Amino acid sequence: MLGRFILFSGYLTAGALLGLWFEVYWPESHAVMIGLVLAASLWMVQDSARADQFLNWLRLDSAAGGGPKSGVWEEFTERVRRMLRERERQTQESQARLKDFLSAMQASPNGVMLLDGEAHIEWCNQTAAAHFGLDSQRDVMQTIGNLVRDPGFVGYLAARNFETSLTMPGRNSTSSRPVTLSVQLHRYGDGRKLLLSRDITAVEQAEAMRRDFVANVSHEIRTPLTVLAGFVETLQTLHLKEGERQQYLALMAQQADRMQTLVSDLLTLSRLEGSAPPGLDARVALPTLMRHLEADAQALSQVIGAVGEADHQFVFDCTFDGNLAGSANELLSAMGNLVSNAVRYTPVGGRISVSVRLRADGCLVFSVADTGPGIAAEHLGRLTERFYRVDRSRSRETGGTGLGLAIVKHVAQRHGAVLSIDSTVGKGSLFSLIFPASRVVPAAAPVGADTSAGSLSVLPDAPANAAIASSIPA
Ligand code: ADP
Repeated sequence: MLGRFILFSGYLTAGALLGLWFEVYWPESHAVMIGLVLAASLWMVQDSARADQFLNWLRLDSAAGGGPKSGVWEEFTERVRRMLRERERQTQESQARLKDFLSAMQASPNGVMLLDGEAHIEWCNQTAAAHFGLDSQRDVMQTIGNLVRDPGFVGYLAARNFETSLTMPGRNSTSSRPVTLSVQLHRYGDGRKLLLSRDITAVEQAEAMRRDFVANVSHEIRTPLTVLAGFVETLQTLHLKEGERQQYLALMAQQADRMQTLVSDLLTLSRLEGSAPPGLDARVALPTLMRHLEADAQALSQVIGAVGEADHQFVFDCTFDGNLAGSANELLSAMGNLVSNAVRYTPVGGRISVSVRLRADGCLVFSVADTGPGIAAEHLGRLTERFYRVDRSRSRETGGTGLGLAIVKHVAQRHGAVLSIDSTVGKGSLFSLIFPASRVVPAAAPVGADTSAGSLSVLPDAPANAAIASSIPA
């Protein structure tokens, strides 16, 4: 401002000096006064022109160059230009931050929707759009209550009590493929609302499975426990003859075995679920595996039939003299379950063929065929479910737990194999495990530690053995 004052003073001085010079020639002309007024006016005109230039620049092209080029107005222009540039930079930064923030919300696995005070959709991510069947662009500023017509949701919105979440069906939910959403509104800002949605279908299914599982296990254990408790009471209260006492004790041992088999199968399943899949290092020699299976099958057949003689016709055929990469215990358990099922469900005199062969594509097929009762087509898809049985009484009579094929399926999955079931009622069944070529190792390749001695290390509670043990009649 000092410069402005000096310039103004300079104008006045120049006007006064010019007036003095005039007064020398025209005394009494008041030329000094006139010179001062003219100088002040000139300064005012010039200053106003610059102020106009500054205002025009502000109004029209403040973003570009231009504006007054001298004096204090130039400084005004420069300062305002810097302020505007700074504000522009801040706006761009805020926009970039908002974009990042919206991208983060877009990447959220949960649905996020922003609603204004009147429940209009201000923004929603793709997940929320999919959950509620909306179009994230087209439906902006539409009222959410008009678009989501589920009665539960409409009631939740109207009740205005957003302390708890709402469970409702998703837009694509059908009876064959139900989709369940957990939805909750949260208030924020000036009457605005944040709507969060989460797909809880898998959680709900897991919870239903857990409930079924607990109910099934309780049901399986209740019967032998009731029988055991009954015999204990009988032994405590009645004076029995030695023969009767022995008979009751044998029946009690049978029920205890049944519970032990069940616990053993449950432990096997949980071990299969909780451990890493077997690698390719350990190998099982297939001829050795087949010998074990044959011995177990013969023993089970004798136990089921008349003691002392084998009542089934067995054909064990191993046309591939190589190794299979995987866990010896698991493979023996899965294959043993298939063989023991064939023995248990095929009536005495029936034929059971167990074979191992290499397919043209390099896959290895282990199959168990029997001439048993067969299984109706409607049961085939559910056989590997836990505790699913077609013939309940036959399963229980022979020590079945209803978990055998669930174990087989798990072991197959862990070895990259496929379990195929083919059955015709009245004719028999064919269960096959098809292992990928990557797990097949020809006999010439060095064999892993598991099978080098030609014997299998078997878990003490391997189901194949447990099934045999528990089916021994008391
Ligand atoms: P379980 O312990 O009852 O045998 P599994 O899971 O091994 O349980 O088998 C499920 C059901 O499948 C059995 O209860 C039985 O009804 C049926 N099943 C399995 N294998 C055969 C077979 N070879 N022949 C006929 N039915 C079979």
